Amino acid sequence: MRALLATLALLGCTLSGAHAADQRPALLTPDQVWTGDGAPHAGWSVLVAQGRIQGVGPTATLPVPADVDRIALPGKTLIPGLIDLHSHVLLHPYNETTWDDQVLKEAPAYRVALAVRHAVDTLQAGFTTLRDLGTEGAGYADVGIKRAIEEGQVPGPRLLVATRAIVATASYGPAERSYRPDMDIPYGAQQATGADEATKAVREQAARGADWIKFYADYRTGPDGGTRPTFTLEEMKAIVAAAHASGRKVAAHASSDDAIRLAVLAGVDTIEHGYGASEATFRLMLERKVAYVPTLTAPEAIGEYFQRHVRGGAPTPAMQQAERAFRLARKLGVTIGNGSDVGVFAHGTNERELEWMVRLGMSPTEALRAATVVAAGILDRKDLGAIRNGMLADVVAVDGDPTADIAALRKVDFVMKGGMVYRNQPGIR
Ligand SMILES: [Zn+2]
Repeated sequence: MRALLATLALLGCTLSGAHAADQRPALLTPDQVWTGDGAPHAGWSVLVAQGRIQGVGPTATLPVPADVDRIALPGKTLIPGLIDLHSHVLLHPYNETTWDDQVLKEAPAYRVALAVRHAVDTLQAGFTTLRDLGTEGAGYADVGIKRAIEEGQVPGPRLLVATRAIVATASYGPAERSYRPDMDIPYGAQQATGADEATKAVREQAARGADWIKFYADYRTGPDGGTRPTFTLEEMKAIVAAAHASGRKVAAHASSDDAIRLAVLAGVDTIEHGYGASEATFRLMLERKVAYVPTLTAPEAIGEYFQRHVRGGAPTPAMQQAERAFRLARKLGVTIGNGSDVGVFAHGTNERELEWMVRLGMSPTEALRAATVVAAGILDRKDLGAIRNGMLADVVAVDGDPTADIAALRKVDFVMKGGMVYRNQPGIR
């Protein structure tokens, strides 16, 4: 606990109480409450005790105990803690250090130290749950970071981790062709060839603490550097079978139509990126109940770093492709969950993804649902993503009304996770 307090003091956070169970009940009274469904309710409060939501409704109707801690949040909207389904806490923006240099030159201890900082930034921005999709060469470090957060040693969001992720042999990065052939280089994920090795990789990662299994269905392995499927359908099926047998869901990185289709046929649960998906493939996803995680902010960030894209300016071809896929998936009714690929861009600015979803046609409420109720559904977490009796007390207050203007998410003033207050001070940006 001392370590946690010291960390928080260093980082300028506020924290009240130790463990949720020791805390007095709290009554949060904002201007309005958006529960995850419908319109916001003015004049409502939320009662929290024992780390869970114990009441939500008009303030006068709540069974408020005498010793309650009253937390007034004037001018603010209370919403469920936000969920980002695609993060990399062990990466930092590529304009600071290229991906290759992070994997090849940064000591694992250094990467972990940065990741702790990233976890703090994320939680302070109102994101209380991350599905972290691969350590990119940092082994099983995510499992350790998750443990430290769960124990309260360091502040951070709830993590669901994928550990090393699985790639087809010699089909990821750092790209072999960029280095001397006689060099033995650290790799960004675990390599496998054939159904047996793929199965083995799933079992190893599961045993080391993976909550989700992530594999790369395609990569830039074409003769011209074009994106091609990497694993065979048989290999993908082996990954999915082993993961599902162990009770874990599967996320597939796939951006080419061929690879997305193969991954969906193999039985994956989510498609990451999906930029090249055709209408027929999105229809297949709809039919098989495969969710789509669009990561719209990643191509914008890459454009800024390497293609002189200026934010708000003409979109790059990659951004146009992402937009096409997003609009098509939404039109067809594919389940869309909020996932940003944060780590490619700065941790703590995860809300950029919601702003993109709104820019490309979603209503603010729809985007908020993608980052709360819908995301929790994809995670099979019935205790997250809404403000309802019995749910874990992950709630966030933002200045203004994000259901009217999604940019209000830039002004997170209050963050509670599991009944503990991690922030109660105005705006971050
Ligand atoms: Zn990613």
